[in-house]
Amino acid sequence: MEKMEYDVVILGGVAAGTSAAASAKRINKNLKIAIFQKEPYISYGGCGLPYVISGDVASPEDVIALTPEKFKEKKEQTFSLNMKHMK
Ligand SMILES: Cc1cc2nc3c(=O)[nH]c(=O)nc-3n(C[C@H](O)[C@H](O)[C@H](O)COP(=O)(O)OP(=O)(O)OC[C@H]3O[C@@H](n4cnc5c(N)ncnc54)[C@H](O)[C@@H]3O)c2cc1C
Repeated sequence: MEKMEYDVVILGGVAAGTSAAASAKRINKNLKIAIFQKEPYISYGGCGLPYVISGDVASPEDVIALTPEKFKEKKEQTFSLNMKHMK
């Protein structure tokens, strides 16, 4: 099994998790931070979901601020995002 070492490990990668990671990084840019997210989405607006259901927002994709792919592309140098596992 691969051994991983981090200064900060965050469980959950939606609003609170990604905010916590960004805040920690602002305090100390040298921190090695891992975000673990058990669902396949990160950075989405839960508040927008009723509008998806009502049809006022056309697609669930419209409430996603950052996809895991975009996150990896833009932030992989800054944070490690682990989307697998966790029960
Ligand atoms: C319908 C609706 C309407 C809302 N309206 C408003 C509003 O008008 N105004 C407002 O301020 N807020 C609103 N909210 C609330 C707002 O969306 C939440 O406050 C916000 O999503 C909370 O973000 P969070 O990161 O704390 O938690 P979550 O969004 O719940 O994200 C936590 C993530 O962590 C993951 N997770 C949990 N345990 C683990 C683990 N052990 N390992 C890995 N991953 C884990 C979960 O799968 C989840 O994806 C609304 C929410 C909903 C659902």
